[in-house]
Amino acid sequence: MPTIALVPLRRQVLRLAQGALARSHALDRLPPRGGATVLMYHSVAPPHLTRFLEGHLPVEEFERHVAFLAAERHVVGISELSALLAAGEEPPPGTVVITFDDGYRDNLEVAAPILARHGLPAVVYLATTYVDGGETQWADRLHTMVTTRTHHRCPQPPAEPSGELGAAVDLADAVAGAEVLGAWHRHLMAASHPDRARLLAQLADALEPAAEPPRLTLTWDEVRELTTTYPKIEIGVHTANHTDLAAADGATIWDELVTSINAVEKAIGVRPRHQSFPYGRVSAEARRLMADAGLDTAMGGTGHQRIGPASDRFDLPRLDAGMPYGQLRARTHPSFGSLPGPLTKGL
Ligand SMILES: [Zn+2]
Repeated sequence: MPTIALVPLRRQVLRLAQGALARSHALDRLPPRGGATVLMYHSVAPPHLTRFLEGHLPVEEFERHVAFLAAERHVVGISELSALLAAGEEPPPGTVVITFDDGYRDNLEVAAPILARHGLPAVVYLATTYVDGGETQWADRLHTMVTTRTHHRCPQPPAEPSGELGAAVDLADAVAGAEVLGAWHRHLMAASHPDRARLLAQLADALEPAAEPPRLTLTWDEVRELTTTYPKIEIGVHTANHTDLAAADGATIWDELVTSINAVEKAIGVRPRHQSFPYGRVSAEARRLMADAGLDTAMGGTGHQRIGPASDRFDLPRLDAGMPYGQLRARTHPSFGSLPGPLTKGL
């Protein structure tokens, strides 16, 4: 057991070693292994929009990612990966799939043109009720409310889904503020779409934010523009209401799947065959209903293990691509799986 004083030192040494590894070509000398890595992106936002987003990848970083992936990796579409897995074939070393969650408007305006310049495919997973209204995601609305608030007293979420708000907490208190915002995230994640709208309106009354996010989500017209202008972009589903399927009952899961699949088919004339689980949360029941809904693959939680014929196609792991190019290079490297275990942790 290392002493407490040694742990940070060990971590520092590991980080230095990882950084050097990411920059060096040491990985090129190790044996390559087959299997695919699926990258998860969300928003690739231009600078004037970043303050409204809870998370995003800067455009310049995305440009670096895409140029690198086009030059040094084997990027395939989700349908191609799905066909390989269905045929029991191992994806070739260095195979990468690019995915986007939630349906951000910048996927059309910023990301798709960059991908097209390099000839790369991608899949965009839509939360279709949000597309119906071109409605900004609740997490970004909450983020903007908190960061541009003019009042600091924040009520706590209700104990019951439709109950009254709890006692107010001072957001200027760092510890109490972080706790109440964590509670709001958990509450809104599990809430229904109408409950989210009502609660966000009540929060806005309390915090009186100085700014409102512009429309950050695609509309159906823009989804059609995305698929007609950029034919290498596929559309998948991400539930209708951005619902936590791991916390939902069977009827709700089925309704979320059918509603979102039908909405995409109606809009673009192609029935979607791929899904990603909101918040990366999967349940056995939700997983079981994927094939019944006519889906071929579903993305589950994040993890860095490679995808091959033995992977569960309805709970495929993804790598959160919100990282600098150097780390992306190491994590998608065909030889990454040949490294000693401790070196790959946290890379
Ligand atoms: Zn999502």
